[in-house]
Amino acid sequence: LNDIKNTDAEVAEAIVKEFNRQSQHIELIASENWVSPAVMSAMGSVLTNKYAEGYPGKRYYGGCQEVDVVEELARERAKELFGCEYVNVQPHSGAQANMAVQFAVLKPGDTVMGMNLDHGGHLTHGSPANFSGVYFNIVPYGVNDDGFIDYDEVERIALECKPKMIIAGASAYCRKIDFKRFREICDKVDAVLFVDMAHIAGLVAAGVHESPVPYADIVTTTTHKTLRGPRGGMIMATAEANEKYNFNKAVFPGIQGGPLMHVIAGKAICFKEALDPSFKEYGQQIVKNAQALCKGLQDRGIKIVSGGTDNHLMLIDLTPFELTGKVVEKLLDDAHITANKNTIPNDPKSPFVTSGIRLGTPAATTRGLKEADFDQVAEAISIVIKEQEAGVEKARAIIKTLTDKYPLPGAEGFC
Ligand code: PLP
Repeated sequence: LNDIKNTDAEVAEAIVKEFNRQSQHIELIASENWVSPAVMSAMGSVLTNKYAEGYPGKRYYGGCQEVDVVEELARERAKELFGCEYVNVQPHSGAQANMAVQFAVLKPGDTVMGMNLDHGGHLTHGSPANFSGVYFNIVPYGVNDDGFIDYDEVERIALECKPKMIIAGASAYCRKIDFKRFREICDKVDAVLFVDMAHIAGLVAAGVHESPVPYADIVTTTTHKTLRGPRGGMIMATAEANEKYNFNKAVFPGIQGGPLMHVIAGKAICFKEALDPSFKEYGQQIVKNAQALCKGLQDRGIKIVSGGTDNHLMLIDLTPFELTGKVVEKLLDDAHITANKNTIPNDPKSPFVTSGIRLGTPAATTRGLKEADFDQVAEAISIVIKEQEAGVEKARAIIKTLTDKYPLPGAEGFC
């Protein structure tokens, strides 16, 4: 950090303060994590200096020998990790991976089914506020009154609207996704099955969630959520789907310019880490911790959408307390718990206000917290919800015992 301090004191100060915030708060945003020192170093390496438009062996710039090695390592490891036939590690983000896939497969106006944003889907699965909702005819599906994906209803809608593509995957869905059932529905209507496993990729890599790869034509993911790598995206596909749609061309020159080689190096390292047997334990611990947090909240009378969780996240339904997600997000932050407001299925409130809070365990699991610690986190959250301002100090004291007990990995010498 000294180089930054010497060059730009203002940015250095913001980084130090952000480090302190991350140290002093328990991170429960379901899509965040804490990367290894090796991944962090790759992102600050000389690879950021290199232009490498094209693909290994076929670049538009000279001097790409070493970055070719890095990209090949990332591609081979991703194939080994997820058992896919084709992979592209260049998408700068999950949204860009999804954009490349949709532009490769669809024409403007084509019919696509995606999970409703209010029911847990992602913006890029057809929200009117996103390119996907602007360019394509989106027919949304969602969850039933119990909070589970209603596969019979998905099938009924598919038979009715005959989509060219069905998108499975979500940002706020806490139950296992039945990819085999999605495949069967797609086969009935001759639709492409596109799975966005961004949230659960680390759980899939660890073998604690069924993999979509054997069922889907195309799978995308981010690399920075449960997978614990650098911020970025990735596309996987069957050889047959790639032959038909040419995803390399869709990414570059379709929607991107030069790849971020320093980030691709971080992806290669992340996949190596995820191939290590210890990553299985990490994935298992994420789920055990989510179930402990969920039980701790339910035991304290807090309602969870769908009544539990199978993965790394859960949604608190705040309606019984007549509180909004916006208010509780702020109160939790004051108590040093970082989480985000989130709509719950059929939420009457807007996405800026919401009736829910989304919680996830991947980052705090990396930090070292176990089931008993998550019961303490549940206690702190319960105090905040029930006592509001009056409970913030009490909750913060509980969180301090946890942040003191588990200093951030790689924290020594950071500043
Ligand atoms: N897909 C899903 C399911 C997500 O939850 C997200 C991000 O939260 C994305 C895609 C987009 O990823 P990014 O923020 O890297 O564009």
